[in-house]
Amino acid sequence: MPSTVIIGGSVAGFSVAAGLREAGYTGTVTIIDPHETALDRPPLSTEYLVDDDVDLALAPPEWFQEHSVTWVQDTAISFGPGTVETTRQHFDADHVVIATGAVPKTLDLAKPVYTLRSLADAQALRAALQPGVRVAIAGGGLLAPELATSAKTLGAKVTVFTPQVPATEIFGELAHSLYRNMTDQVDVIPRRLTVDENLADFDLVIAAVGVAPAVELAQDSGVSIDDGIVVDDHYRTNIDGVYAIGDVCRIHGQPRHDHWDHGRASAARVVHTIMGTQPAVPTPQWVWSDQFGHDAQAVGRVIPQAHEHLVHRGDHAIFVINNDRLIGAAAIDDHMVIRAATRIITRDVRVDPDQLADTDIQIRRLAR
Ligand SMILES: Cc1cc2nc3c(=O)[nH]c(=O)nc-3n(C[C@H](O)[C@H](O)[C@H](O)COP(=O)(O)OP(=O)(O)OC[C@H]3O[C@@H](n4cnc5c(N)ncnc54)[C@H](O)[C@@H]3O)c2cc1C
Repeated sequence: MPSTVIIGGSVAGFSVAAGLREAGYTGTVTIIDPHETALDRPPLSTEYLVDDDVDLALAPPEWFQEHSVTWVQDTAISFGPGTVETTRQHFDADHVVIATGAVPKTLDLAKPVYTLRSLADAQALRAALQPGVRVAIAGGGLLAPELATSAKTLGAKVTVFTPQVPATEIFGELAHSLYRNMTDQVDVIPRRLTVDENLADFDLVIAAVGVAPAVELAQDSGVSIDDGIVVDDHYRTNIDGVYAIGDVCRIHGQPRHDHWDHGRASAARVVHTIMGTQPAVPTPQWVWSDQFGHDAQAVGRVIPQAHEHLVHRGDHAIFVINNDRLIGAAAIDDHMVIRAATRIITRDVRVDPDQLADTDIQIRRLAR
């Protein structure tokens, strides 16, 4: 019987198991992860920090039995072609999928620095973020504004140190409007937080300064590593039958993507490879962020290149077009724009910039 062993059971690893079963895979499917079950991460910075009743599980416990997926609560310590070793067991597998994600970078300061990646990190932060606590949050990506939102909700006095307008590479021009909104809500200092800062002004420091791919396990395995495990566009490594997906991997010749939807999409691609089936046209990459009461979303690429055009729809949505084809879109508090843009890009529908810009025309009409 064929067998697949997946190392890491968050969105990327879990999606392989779910996708294989959905596709009718009849072999054994095993997920190895030190956690009790498959947990999602994005709610950690938003809902989990501020609410008592948040379910992080990607599936209820009975799902694993119903789908014949074995969850092994353990840590993998090595893998090779067709084999995986954990701290307690040995597994043989036709397919080995590495989905170990990423680890947060931190700052070297003369004070303990919190980071947020795991449930344990979130629990520690929840305990520390008391009303009136003076917190410095360092970071120029999605996470810093999300953490600032939660910390403010909890009554902390928040200062964000950011050397740039956060997430411009994701939300393009709209990142500036999110930034203005953040500066209305909390103190923002437009530079890096360094050792020279007077840390006595803060009770708590949180680093949201990016992640490094969790490649430790792969160091001596023979897979190529260069800012992540290097894969081809089928997410195959240089070792036959070994794949890498999600935050831990990087497609050769491309930058590394550490967003939730990449975990899901890369898993779907590996399922097709294992099943020997043809993937549908891939949907463009989608990223979202909930910050200060606003829902920001982007799909595809939203920074125009020289020959492309930027189209504005009111002050809350932008599109990048190349001739009559849509390349990407971003929107604040308008998920219909993102839904329509995803359909337009996936179906390769022609677009008219004047129509995209016209807020009197319902966006979903343009996706037909
Ligand atoms: C707080 C927070 C908020 C976020 N918000 C957003 C957002 O708003 N939008 C967005 O697009 N993305 C967001 N992200 C990013 C997104 O969550 C990640 O891109 C996604 O979780 C990557 O999934 P993954 O499965 O590749 O890796 P991970 O989620 O890192 O999971 C890796 C899993 O592998 C396990 N593992 C590691 N090493 C081993 C080993 N040796 N043996 C066995 N298991 C191992 C880990 O325990 C973990 O369960 C956020 C991330 C965080 C931390």
